[in-house]
Amino acid sequence: MALKPAQLAFEEALLRERLKFVRELKEQLQDEEGMVAQTVKAYTAVVDDVIHNIALEVHRGVQTGVDDLVDVHHRLAAGTGSSQQAVAIPPLAPPVVKGNMVDVFGNVVPPIALDQVACPSCGRKVAAGRFAPHLEKCMGRGRQASRQANKRISAMDLS
Ligand SMILES: [Zn+2]
Repeated sequence: MALKPAQLAFEEALLRERLKFVRELKEQLQDEEGMVAQTVKAYTAVVDDVIHNIALEVHRGVQTGVDDLVDVHHRLAAGTGSSQQAVAIPPLAPPVVKGNMVDVFGNVVPPIALDQVACPSCGRKVAAGRFAPHLEKCMGRGRQASRQANKRISAMDLS
């Protein structure tokens, strides 16, 4: 299948553009203080560092007996690298369903904590979720208690 003259011209123009780009890149890389050369240098350092870390990790694994070379070779051939097998993780249920709280384990949780707590002030058993407001009232502190106190005071003034 021969190319038509128009296709050939396009191909040639494309190749010339690519060649021009490669020449420019080469020129910029020769200026060691230039941005292109510095970028390539930094990137190379990062890749070298990653390779170095993997080499150390495999070395440590083999030396401590956690890993063995046969397994490493096998993984390299398979292209997976990592020793952990990919485990299918089931998608998590959304943590909060409207009107019906579900914790991270999927257990349904009541909207307020229902464990009974004894009030240290009056000794009554109170649901844990209602403990803070109860204690506020019971000990005469907080917004509600001071509002009630204000009401009592103004009632006394009126009478
Ligand atoms: Zn109380």
